[in-house]
Amino acid sequence: MRAAVMTEVGHMELQEIDRPDVTGDDVLIDVGACGVCMTDYHIYHGSFAVDTPVVLGHESAGEVAAVGPDVTRVEVGDRVALNPSIPCGQCRYCQDGQTNLCEDMISTGGAGDKVRDGSFAEYLAVPERGVEPVGELSIRTAALSEPYACCVHAVDRANLTSGDTVAVVGAGPIGLLTIRELRNRGAGEIVVSEIDPDRRDLALSSGADEAVDPTAGDAVEAVHDAVGDVDVSMEIVGKPQTIEQTHRMTAKGGRTVIVGVPPQDSTIEVNPFDIYYHEIDLVGTFALTPESFRRAIVGLRNGRVETDD
Ligand SMILES: [Zn+2]
Ligand SMILES: [Zn+2]
Repeated sequence: MRAAVMTEVGHMELQEIDRPDVTGDDVLIDVGACGVCMTDYHIYHGSFAVDTPVVLGHESAGEVAAVGPDVTRVEVGDRVALNPSIPCGQCRYCQDGQTNLCEDMISTGGAGDKVRDGSFAEYLAVPERGVEPVGELSIRTAALSEPYACCVHAVDRANLTSGDTVAVVGAGPIGLLTIRELRNRGAGEIVVSEIDPDRRDLALSSGADEAVDPTAGDAVEAVHDAVGDVDVSMEIVGKPQTIEQTHRMTAKGGRTVIVGVPPQDSTIEVNPFDIYYHEIDLVGTFALTPESFRRAIVGLRNGRVETDD
């Protein structure tokens, strides 16, 4: 079969490699679609280290082509989306339901300590607990299950109450999907801070009420002028400066959520007195859980979130 193999950092080539065998509870997927993620970009450029050669690609969907002898949940011909994060199910985090924090996570084609070949290939093999049936949903839409599930989990971490005012900093694909999820979950006013005018327009058509240009002046002031006090602010860029800026947007009693992936060695400055005196939560959100993955698929299958654009 053909696969796009990353042979070393900064080099990828189309190769003819063996189709994976399926044993145990593995499922062979005939890949129909796979998204390209910033994680692929980071791995390609070496800012997430993985062993090579490796096949990347972790936002995918396809059809079950073969099943191992121990597979019980799916059969050949089923259409499925792939959850690339395969938790061990045994460690204390898995036992507590925080499977995204698993100490022994296997990732298919994504970033992780243990990486199996991913979906930039005609076929890949994954344990059956890493796939979820999608019914008649188009494979192209189903491939967005993983990124959308990360947004579902991020809004869970934001502990949103209906009517909350939300600031979203960064309106790339994850920012835009997060805005749509915030709308679904009953957010009040949503304001977006984004440098790109086309993305500001998309943010507005995604359900944001206001969009500000952070290069036009002080973004924190602009956000406050637009919507007043912000209950939840979400940073979806991954830069220390924008995380500090986002945190300054959060009003008393509110929550700042770090969604973007910051450089691993970066630091930020926060005023601990503000956190203490104003009871401001500073929280992180990492990837997705099997539960948020299933909820994302329910949303996509029922047309609760527009993704074609
Ligand atoms: Zn991704
Ligand atoms: Zn675990």
